[in-house]
Amino acid sequence: MKTVDNVYENLRRINENINNAVSECGRNSDSVRLMAVTKTVAPEIINHAISSGVSLLGENRVQEFLSKQEIYNKSAEIHFIGHLQTNKVKYIIEPMTMIQSVDSLRLAEEINRLAIAHNKIMDVLCEVNIGGENSKSGISPDELNQFLEQLSIMNGIRVKGLMTIPPPSSGDIFLGRMEELFNRIKDNKIEGIEMNELSMGMTHDYQEAIKHGATIVRIGTGLFGARNYNI
Ligand SMILES: *Cc1c(COP(=O)(O)O)cnc(C)c1O
Repeated sequence: MKTVDNVYENLRRINENINNAVSECGRNSDSVRLMAVTKTVAPEIINHAISSGVSLLGENRVQEFLSKQEIYNKSAEIHFIGHLQTNKVKYIIEPMTMIQSVDSLRLAEEINRLAIAHNKIMDVLCEVNIGGENSKSGISPDELNQFLEQLSIMNGIRVKGLMTIPPPSSGDIFLGRMEELFNRIKDNKIEGIEMNELSMGMTHDYQEAIKHGATIVRIGTGLFGARNYNI
């Protein structure tokens, strides 16, 4: 049962765990943001999470977002975190403040085109396929530098950092590789690219991810309970 009481208690515990992880590695408590991942969760429950202190939502699917959007309390910021088809960008360019899952040049070009048409600059993260899995989208680490250089000249896009979903049950090997990659790209200082956000860590590994430099942790199950189905 996904009761609102559980959400409140889960949120309290997650925040406590985040604070502990942050202080164990000597980072500031405001250096990590909690994102509530909303897939399959009823909008009323999401609103309860917002009134309990959640300020950032993560949406995976445009269709589902459109069906819930009107009901959401407007005080939370919304980022897109799923695989995004180019023909759906138009639905999220206004209501969302960041697209975390930019995984192809074609998608970046469409976001850029629409952002310019809407007279805005869209914040984006580049999704990295750190585990080299065929089943996952994302830019391979070898091609990342060149990809970022291509994005750096797009006026409608502001790259803020990287996002990743490591292979399941891989311990912290890929969190460590992601941390190295992030720091290397940051040290390279590509002109026109910011490297301040590292979005990684989910219910099963967010404390580890924080120790590897995550600045945004994306939590669904831990906050709202197990999903009945996966998308
Ligand atoms: C579902 C999802 C999450 C949250 O996963 P949980 O294990 O439920 O915390 C995080 N990021 C992305 C991209 C997701 O699709």
